[in-house]
Amino acid sequence: MTDLEKKYFDTVFIERICTYAQIAEKIEISAEKLKEMYAKNGGIDKCIADQIFNIDIIEYLNLKDSMSTDKVTIDEIYQKYSNKKSSANEGEFQFHDWKEFYGWYIEQIKNGETCCYCGVNQSKIKISLDGVNNLSTPYVRLKRKTRGVSLEIERVDTSDGHNLYSVENCRLACHVCNNAKSDFITAQEFEPIARGIYNFWKEKVGVQDIIFPTEVYKTFK
Ligand SMILES: [Zn+2]
Repeated sequence: MTDLEKKYFDTVFIERICTYAQIAEKIEISAEKLKEMYAKNGGIDKCIADQIFNIDIIEYLNLKDSMSTDKVTIDEIYQKYSNKKSSANEGEFQFHDWKEFYGWYIEQIKNGETCCYCGVNQSKIKISLDGVNNLSTPYVRLKRKTRGVSLEIERVDTSDGHNLYSVENCRLACHVCNNAKSDFITAQEFEPIARGIYNFWKEKVGVQDIIFPTEVYKTFK
């Protein structure tokens, strides 16, 4: 990553700078003044190019374009963050901010997008959903085609007072495990069920390279 790409990543993806008010907070010009300067003269992109990056608008747009693949992935993760943050009960969402959540998420998927309980790899489920081998899988019966495409944020310890969305307590789970692990089942108790789900993926869906995980069962004894 070049320095410019790194700056784009930090500013646009992590800080999520996208309004005049946010830019105004970083420089000594008011949001009103920025709006006046850019609203009819290149808009927010030009404002970011000038005021944050100090580069030409064409160069900025090229940079933006070159980062667009990353944007899709990061926006998906951001969507998970904001959905959970807004749907969690009061006091349950303990990730400090998006930056912490993003760091946690990247750590979770560093060895592949796998379910913490059964080990299924997300990209293998996608292949099934995309139809490569879905005629021989239960996925033809899936009614809501959007479910299962993405790993879900799972709170592992659900006991009273511990049922939190936090770096320590959250992992990623496939939707089958997520559905099956009710609040009253501990990670330890869930292990034999997860082994069954592991077999389901392997035998019914035909996911071959799946490794049964151990981390979650060791951590949450
Ligand atoms: Zn699973």
